[in-house]
Amino acid sequence: MTVVRTTCPYCGVGCGIKAQVTGPRDVTIKGDDAHPANAGRLCSKGTHLGETVGLEGRLLYPQIGNEQAEWDEALTLIASRFSDAVRDHGPDSVAFYVSGQILTEDYYVANKLMKGFIGSANIDTNSRLCMASAVAAHNRAFGEDVVPVSYGDLEQAELILLVGSNTAWCHPVIWQRIEAARTKTGAKLVVIDPRRTETAECADLHVPVAADGDVALFNALLMDMQTRGLVDANYLAQHVDVPEGFWNSLSGSAAAAGISEADFAALTDLVAAHPKMVTLFSMGVNQSTSGTDKANAIINLHLATGRIGKVGAGPFSMTGQPNAMGGREVGGLASMLAVHMGFSDEECAAAQHYWQSPTIARAPGLKAVDMFRAVHDGRIKALWVMGTNPAVSMPDAGFVREALDKCEFLVVSEVMAEGDTAAYADVKLPALAWGEKAGMVTNSERLMSRQRSLFDAPGEAKPDWWALAEVGKRMGYRAAFDFDGPAAVFREYAGQTAFRNDGRRKLDLGAWAEISDGEYHEWQPAQWGGASPFADATFTHNGGKAKLVAVRPPETRPMNAAQPLTLNTGRYRDQWHTMTRTGLSPRLSQHRREALIEIHPADAAIYGVTDGGLARVHSAAGEAVFRVYITDAQRRGEIFAPMHWTDQFAGGGRCNRIVDSAIDPVSHQPGFKNNAAAIAPV
Ligand code: SF4
Repeated sequence: MTVVRTTCPYCGVGCGIKAQVTGPRDVTIKGDDAHPANAGRLCSKGTHLGETVGLEGRLLYPQIGNEQAEWDEALTLIASRFSDAVRDHGPDSVAFYVSGQILTEDYYVANKLMKGFIGSANIDTNSRLCMASAVAAHNRAFGEDVVPVSYGDLEQAELILLVGSNTAWCHPVIWQRIEAARTKTGAKLVVIDPRRTETAECADLHVPVAADGDVALFNALLMDMQTRGLVDANYLAQHVDVPEGFWNSLSGSAAAAGISEADFAALTDLVAAHPKMVTLFSMGVNQSTSGTDKANAIINLHLATGRIGKVGAGPFSMTGQPNAMGGREVGGLASMLAVHMGFSDEECAAAQHYWQSPTIARAPGLKAVDMFRAVHDGRIKALWVMGTNPAVSMPDAGFVREALDKCEFLVVSEVMAEGDTAAYADVKLPALAWGEKAGMVTNSERLMSRQRSLFDAPGEAKPDWWALAEVGKRMGYRAAFDFDGPAAVFREYAGQTAFRNDGRRKLDLGAWAEISDGEYHEWQPAQWGGASPFADATFTHNGGKAKLVAVRPPETRPMNAAQPLTLNTGRYRDQWHTMTRTGLSPRLSQHRREALIEIHPADAAIYGVTDGGLARVHSAAGEAVFRVYITDAQRRGEIFAPMHWTDQFAGGGRCNRIVDSAIDPVSHQPGFKNNAAAIAPV
């Protein structure tokens, strides 16, 4: 039986898989020992992929309303409704909301259609909820969205700082690599997280920072390094622009970060003693109304101490989704034009010339939260949602459901026939699932790998890039969307990264712009930018320098007597997003069977909730019911809920109903980690 080398569809670790098809819908899953990301390792989610490839509940043919339709009929209707909206209300009256689950080729065609042919930048993605703050911070610091390090640096580091990440649960194979490296090299591990998570339990030092205390902490760390004489003046002078007044503007302290002086002293001693330091950060940094500043505070520390572009040193943003990075590279975000380009006249001209398009978006479009506000108030008339479930995953999800209900024309590309978002669709398009679709994904360390198909497409399901291209053709752009397969899309994308680039941007895939279909089929994992893209200490800002960014700790959220607690949200080990896939696996459901609200024993006593009892959590956005889990791993005054559940699975626990839609002013990423809330027994 043939073994197919493919890639796990869950997280941004991007593990290689060897899949052996053993029956019509049966597959044996093993880690790919030849894949650089995981060297044969898998976590529970990847291991149990075989339990999720059945056809039960699948959407197998297009639907208009609740009626089965022909593809041609559905695609013609979509093209006509989008064209009508553009003609009557302008290009910004339509939008695409896509996903870090879709493949690079899907992203490329969606971005090209919206920005080059419809003429709007109203394409955003659920990656806005995941790592938009890291993207914005990279752009501010480096001039380009480049992750400076590789997984291999974890094995070379003397000190690993994990910030806002329960890595043992959320990026388990990175965690396995960290633990193996610690055993081998004796590297120290610090976990900076409000919760004493399973990851923190294993650390040499746990720093229980207060919610959104990270800027104060990293500014204080940088001041401490300056006091100790550990700022690298030569590196700064040669490679980094330091804004006037930067050093005087720094403010932060242990108290402002909500930690003890003893913890701060232990942390600074470790940082001072170990220049080979990698700082991994994830959702606790990004999902914040000060997320971009947090990421820049971390990057500032690395730039100022010269701990970047060297083996075993650098700031490392871990992406949540399997292809969040591919979407960033293509430019499938409302905040960028294409392939790491912004909206300058020169960049717009380059993209329009490359695409030979009739128009071009000239300014950023609506980002996720603003996009659904525009749907709600009728500014957006037609919306296409692809590979994501905003009715559950967006903050203030009750408001988003209202928006979906009010949307004049909603298209949903989906794998499942019934779904929270698909319930509102005017047209449903049957998409390919993992094991059926084929294309490229990029993991957190810029490693591009192939997802390959194992099974024939079920029913009439089609690739997302194909559906987008067919709509483009029906809108009148036949030649521009005449792709004969994913390899043709990839070639065009690779060519765009090199077009009028001349080495100015690190993202340059020009070497693959002429790749043959056969070479694409046989693709081996390849990392753009190399293992250390800043080893030459040249950055993308004009003059080739990086920049320190002056950041100040955010204002503390005012005390709210009606909602005195801080609600934090996050993942469980064995579930993924809104459980549309992992919820199919009986074994994965054994780890946590329902959504629990975690609370410190002293707070539980104050609010009268009991371990195992039910509690209602309410916020300004709404309310939801959870089972109570009392644990001293929580800080006093903070509660934690998982993000996964919908009413469909648990009859409650719909977490994002109670998360408000406040956003970071730079990245427009919502702050899922610090919401005012109250709790009471049911
Ligand atoms: Fe899949 Fe991530 Fe687990 Fe690897 S660590 S097997 S990519 S879920």
